[in-house]
Amino acid sequence: MEGRAPVVLKRADHPISRRDIDPDALKVLYRLYRNGFKAYLVGGAVRDLLMGKRPKDFDVVTDARPGQVKKLFANCMLIGRRFRLAHIRFKGGKIIEVATFRKEPDAQCAENESIDPNTSFGTPEQDAFRRDITINALFYDIADFSIIDYVGGLDDLNKGIVRMIGSPHNRYVEDPVRMWRVLRHAARLGFSIEEETSREIVLHRELLCSCSGARMFEELNKDIASGHLGGVMALFREYGMLPSLFGKIGSFLQENAGAWDTLLPLLKVVDERARAGSPLSNESTLTIMFWPWAEQILQSGAPPGGDKMKMLQDVLFDSGMAVTIPKAMKAGITQTACIVERMLYAMQSGRMKWSLKKRSRYADASVVFSVITAGRADKEKDPFSRIFREAHHEAQGRRKKKRPSRSRWRRRREEKPAS
Ligand code: ATP
Ligand code: MG
Repeated sequence: MEGRAPVVLKRADHPISRRDIDPDALKVLYRLYRNGFKAYLVGGAVRDLLMGKRPKDFDVVTDARPGQVKKLFANCMLIGRRFRLAHIRFKGGKIIEVATFRKEPDAQCAENESIDPNTSFGTPEQDAFRRDITINALFYDIADFSIIDYVGGLDDLNKGIVRMIGSPHNRYVEDPVRMWRVLRHAARLGFSIEEETSREIVLHRELLCSCSGARMFEELNKDIASGHLGGVMALFREYGMLPSLFGKIGSFLQENAGAWDTLLPLLKVVDERARAGSPLSNESTLTIMFWPWAEQILQSGAPPGGDKMKMLQDVLFDSGMAVTIPKAMKAGITQTACIVERMLYAMQSGRMKWSLKKRSRYADASVVFSVITAGRADKEKDPFSRIFREAHHEAQGRRKKKRPSRSRWRRRREEKPAS
């Protein structure tokens, strides 16, 4: 509850050492602090450090206004229109994001884009309460190396609980993407979801349909990159969210247990590759994610005179997805799926149309093929060719023997006496 004194954990009582903090993030924290400002590490970085993990990025919050931050750092750029953030750039493209403490905008402020952004600045406490879940709202104070907890995040971290800050109902209505974030963190960390945080997701899941499709595509890319896509998708299904996010394809995966059972082990393979640091392309991952659906469409055959690729593309474009997949990527997914279907046919018939190798999506299709048929995604360039040749070695040999070579045939004609 807002208004209470925070729990403060002194340096001796927690495991975060400055050695574990990115040296550039430390530089930023110290420069702000030495210039008289509050400077805290916040969000995923504090959460991950407390769990003994290496954070993906190090975000900083301060009471310095964006303009003041810019004056302190030559390598600083201000971004964002409504909420100005400072991006401090370092070698190798590294960016440390510095935000000014802010409060949750009130309803009037949220609707009115032209309201003075200065009214959104807040106290450290307000900044903690505007965040999504308790374990993401912990501060690490560079002044005395303590952890400051306004929201009960330390307790939840110890117990393994994902809990929305404030009223889940209100927070989901304000920003439905928070439901996605709850499930993401539960899947990544293997945490349970607090009861009200969980119950309200089921009641509000349809709100996701009204969110920005481009923003949700970015969220999906984060889960693909994290190596926990399978876990997040499993929670989407458990919470009945697949239709809201992926339209007809989502409904198919939600309702069809057989298709779902086919998909889960495939996502496991994709996740293993991402976690090993050699991820499949996002387009290949999406092709695999949609494969059980695409396969049944392709198997249903093209309409008379129609072509399968066009049919699949039309259905994919008209699937009513709330997540906006860019057009070019949808076209790529369609092409890859059609080549995979041809590969499956080749495996059965022993006949492959090798001219497909010239298609731009052949290499992607070859890898997708190995994931869906062999449950493997090693780094081999063209696993399909190998799998096909291993399976059809003899068939090829037989065919060669039967058909006389062109030169033998010509020789026979030449040997024939002219009549
Ligand atoms: P990751 O490890 O994926 O980076 P993260 O918790 O750092 O996880 P970010 O997306 O980097 O997540 O966001 C940084 C912080 O901003 C979060 O920890 C959270 O405190 C806050 N935040 C992000 N999205 C929201 C949101 N929709 N509503 C409220 N707070 C949010
Ligand atoms: Mg982060």
